[in-house]
Amino acid sequence: LAEIAGAGAPGSAAPLVDGRALGGERRPVLNPADGRTPVGEVAEASPESADAAIAAARAGFPAWSAIPADRRAAALERAGDLLEARRGRFLHLLQAEAGKTLDDALSELREAVDFCRYYAAQGRELMGEPETMPGPTGEANRLALRGRGVFVAISPWNFPLAIFLGQVAAALMAGNAVVAKPAEQTPLVAAEAVRLLHEAGVPASALHFVPGDGRVGARLVENPHAGGVVFTGSTEVARLINRTLAAKDGPIVPLIAETGGINAMIVDATALPEQVADDVATSAFRSAGQRCSALRLLLVQEDVADRMIEMIVGAARELKVGDPRDVSVAIGPVIDMEAKERLDAHVARMSREAKRVHLAGEAPRSGTYVAPHVFELDRPGALDQEVFGPILHVARYRAADLDRVLEGIEATGYGLTLGVHSRIDATIERVVRRLSVGNVYVNRNMIGAVVGVQPFGGHGLSGTGPKAGGPHYLLRFSTEQTVTINTA
Ligand code: NAD
Repeated sequence: LAEIAGAGAPGSAAPLVDGRALGGERRPVLNPADGRTPVGEVAEASPESADAAIAAARAGFPAWSAIPADRRAAALERAGDLLEARRGRFLHLLQAEAGKTLDDALSELREAVDFCRYYAAQGRELMGEPETMPGPTGEANRLALRGRGVFVAISPWNFPLAIFLGQVAAALMAGNAVVAKPAEQTPLVAAEAVRLLHEAGVPASALHFVPGDGRVGARLVENPHAGGVVFTGSTEVARLINRTLAAKDGPIVPLIAETGGINAMIVDATALPEQVADDVATSAFRSAGQRCSALRLLLVQEDVADRMIEMIVGAARELKVGDPRDVSVAIGPVIDMEAKERLDAHVARMSREAKRVHLAGEAPRSGTYVAPHVFELDRPGALDQEVFGPILHVARYRAADLDRVLEGIEATGYGLTLGVHSRIDATIERVVRRLSVGNVYVNRNMIGAVVGVQPFGGHGLSGTGPKAGGPHYLLRFSTEQTVTINTA
């Protein structure tokens, strides 16, 4: 806490092209906890700055991609070390700008460091000097992975350091020049990360930064010289980007998208109630439900539903809502007033329409706090959109109807995370095999995306893959080149 307190200078962000800060429309960045207190200032990129960033990245690409992979990896490793050394500053910004609790900020910082080190290690392995293989007629063959050119990286506000840095680190490691656009709500921590990457040895010509809203993102995606796009955010925006890319003339541009989900957990009659209660409360309410992996829809076997719901409500009541700098607080604010208004409207609607209201929790009245809620639906399929906040929907099912429940989950079209609580191996296997979901958590909570160990990402409306923090991620940022040399 002392480290954080000593690192509280206001943040600043501005478009950075070839290491030069450009001007732009200036506005304060506000603390989400009260929606009022400025924590820094951002100068937002104009359309011309976005174009200039792509042109500069295009010019910077050949030199960066020609640097041996070992040296690119070394820069990322240095970035990881610097992040650890300056953690107080990053933790401060994560709290001030994104409203993170200390626990959440610490685990995000850890993940950001892990991304730098993991992609560096992967890059050394995959992108180093390729082996030469003799062909059937004696030629020498080698297969090399190379960067694609200019990669556009567009990130969300809910992991403004880890996802931002993970995207950028992977694209750089693969030999691309990068233009990075953070979410409009969280430019400060991203700007600090870009300065740190430059200091760690990534040349200014290889990494450019354009803070701004969706219009800046759209401008980057439209640019004919964008050679790849990595995007994390809503399914709706991923679709817009996909359409823009598909409509362009010229080369087919890859899109790596990680998007939302209507994440379900299935609890059968053999599940352990105490464990379920803790795991559900953690999965649905921690981080104010603002994790893409968070539990939205609990499906509980009717024989045990009353008891399970009662214990879940009890566990939820233990979670204090309030100022994220207070270490006893488990649920901080939601990201901004717009998000609060959207969630308040959902709560008001569900309070009228739900079959039962099991919990309408308490939260500070001022600022952007949303209290945890538990609503019971009359049928499992009644939730048809991602509700990005601390609101849990519950439905009961009969044991004989499990297949229909699984069909309902599948019918949402999303496939990000899934929880299963059961003591019957055959039930667990049946659920896991039936559903095409990216990350399944069995008899535990649904928080977990340990880099290199639990690669994260979904299918269908939840994303394209490959999984972030997994062994195949870097490959999608690269092209392959086979060289065959006649040695006769
Ligand atoms: P969002 O889609 O509103 O915004 C994401 C980014 O896209 C922002 O930088 C935004 O400025 C930009 N953007 C908006 N319109 C654009 C356009 N037309 N063209 C290009 N870029 C545009 O999402 P958000 O509200 O920042 O984040 C929350 C969403 O992200 C949730 O749906 C959540 O599930 C998802 N998410 C998914 C994962 C995952 O790994 N699957 C991780 C975190 C968040």
